[in-house]
Amino acid sequence: MKTLSLLVLILIGLISPAGAVVEWDNRCWSDDKIERVRSKFELEVKPGVAEYKKCDWNNAYYQTLAGLVLMDLMGELNETNDKYDQAIIGKNPFDYFSSRATKIVIESSCHQALAYVRPQLSKSTVHVCPGIEDAGALYIGAIMVHEVRHFDDFDHVPCSGPHNRGVLACDSKYAEQGAYAVSTEFLVKVSRTPNLEPSIRKQARSKAITEFIQRFNSRPFDIEEGVALLNDRNKLYFYDGEKPVQVGSSPGKDYVMISSDDFVTFAGAKKKERLKFDYRESYDKDDFGYKPRYLEGLTAKEIPKFRDQSLYGKFACTLFSDQLRCISSDLKEVERVDIPSKSAVSFIYSELSGIVESEQLYVVDKSGTLYFVPKTWEELKETSSLRVSETRLSLISIGPWGDASEIVVQQDGRVMIYDWTSAQWSSAPHLEKFKAKKMFAPFYWSKKLQQL
Ligand SMILES: [Zn+2]
Repeated sequence: MKTLSLLVLILIGLISPAGAVVEWDNRCWSDDKIERVRSKFELEVKPGVAEYKKCDWNNAYYQTLAGLVLMDLMGELNETNDKYDQAIIGKNPFDYFSSRATKIVIESSCHQALAYVRPQLSKSTVHVCPGIEDAGALYIGAIMVHEVRHFDDFDHVPCSGPHNRGVLACDSKYAEQGAYAVSTEFLVKVSRTPNLEPSIRKQARSKAITEFIQRFNSRPFDIEEGVALLNDRNKLYFYDGEKPVQVGSSPGKDYVMISSDDFVTFAGAKKKERLKFDYRESYDKDDFGYKPRYLEGLTAKEIPKFRDQSLYGKFACTLFSDQLRCISSDLKEVERVDIPSKSAVSFIYSELSGIVESEQLYVVDKSGTLYFVPKTWEELKETSSLRVSETRLSLISIGPWGDASEIVVQQDGRVMIYDWTSAQWSSAPHLEKFKAKKMFAPFYWSKKLQQL
């Protein structure tokens, strides 16, 4: 018996390629793996930091080390040295990090950061913040290589685009090879390394695309701003005024394109999951933040009535045909308000609009009646029925379009443009035969980025 199990072990050892697949989903790393990375750095834990708790993904201390373990186990990554991978960090990101950082400080509080360095005080110390708990193991690797790039005197500039506008969280150009170029390169490499699991490669690709779109003021790869349109056959298109380009396969008819403050997202009420869209065939489960988890609460009876979800503002709301249901940001309170017509269609929201009130979330029903969603949690708690707007609009979605116009999807599926200056409506060019179900705006896309 003993001989047999030994033989089986040897066989397994022979079959699996040497040092290959990292089982990243199984993230309860063994003590020896944790110890291996811990021993490479001087570790300082600030008073107030929760005690190290093995395998606890709400424990910043464990999570930091687990992120490093993942990066360590990845070993050598694929390096192509092309326009996506500028070959700054070399093949082994853990070596890049550990050759530059000698000390890690786990902080008990930080101001709006996941991690930071102070090169003027130390060019070998990385400070990790409590917010890192939400980053996920893969992204921690990106954060780590990002931080040590600051030791080469690369700084950030304020973001000029809609993401983090005005915040020092961008670099001017990808080609400048600053700290965001380094974190993005890490993600690109992970996405292109064949012996890593498909799920982590997909997640890395999705995150790399996000970084390319959000982190560089001069957007690389000819990334254009437009809108994402879902047609009546559940195919997603990029549209910027030219002929629409299909950018992904169908997410399936059970999925509802939802309003998200970041990226195109699909909510699958039946399976109670959210899919984050990342170009082409790759749909990724979006498993960060409190808002996605809200879908889990749906009952079988509610699923057919599910219409939309809004993640704007300080609380998240789910829309059913007959009810608006919102959850407070601490997840502790839920408020329900009935929709009298029982025919709600979607949320309508625009940051800057000449058609509806800017920065006001509405519910629209089949008759085109618009209902105001209260702006604060306190106000919502006191609301027994939603206030009705005098404006009636048979819309499904609304979004910005250039400097002085807006783009809308009507309930009959037509895509129209509203010109503020002339107060005129016109059909969106090249979309005369297009039947849209939902729109997401703004949406950034380029052929070169899709080829990543
Ligand atoms: Zn930075």
